[in-house]
Amino acid sequence: MFSNRFRTLFVATLLAATTQVEAQFAQAPLPYATDALVPSIDKMTMEIHYGKHHKAYVDNLNKALAGKPEEKMSPDELMGKITKETAPAVRNNGGGHWNHTFFWSIMGPAKGGAPKGALAEAIAKDFGSLDEFKKKFKEASTGRFGSGWAWLIVKDKKLMVTSTPNQDNPLMPVADVQGAPVLGLDVWEHAYYLNYQNKRPDYVDAFWNVVNWDKAAEHYAAAMK
Ligand code: MN
Repeated sequence: MFSNRFRTLFVATLLAATTQVEAQFAQAPLPYATDALVPSIDKMTMEIHYGKHHKAYVDNLNKALAGKPEEKMSPDELMGKITKETAPAVRNNGGGHWNHTFFWSIMGPAKGGAPKGALAEAIAKDFGSLDEFKKKFKEASTGRFGSGWAWLIVKDKKLMVTSTPNQDNPLMPVADVQGAPVLGLDVWEHAYYLNYQNKRPDYVDAFWNVVNWDKAAEHYAAAMK
């Protein structure tokens, strides 16, 4: 009897270890402290957003794809495979994982200001000015009914503003407008409600104080290659 119990424990431990090794999709560490974006984004929102919401997308994606060939794909590759036929658990949690990883990377402490170099020139050329671009981006953010994302993308070598519902993104073939994301803003209430309540426009304004233009410029350069 003792040996049976021991064997059960051994098998359970082995299974847990195997599951961990096979979990293909993993949450990268947040690239800054949870209070690094205060006052634009408060600490508790970051803790819950990264630690609960994003984590749940990753956990549920791994569950949905366990044992399937898509498990071996990179997040970018997986986004390119999302069609109308894709299981909602894969579309929603896969998008949730990609979108949040991207979102954390294009913000940072002591950021904000204005873009430089080729990205600054392209914004001036394609929108008229940085202020015009921000106005369009705010319209896309506040105009997205319910939950979703606003995006700055490169499409056919030009910058464009677009938005997606739920956890869709412009890399997905199901998106109305497909392109390469340069910036993305999470406009789900979970992203801002604790600090801004119903005032989504104020949250959009605050985003410009923490946006990492250097990272956006990298995405722009990669998309223009
Ligand atoms: Mn979110």
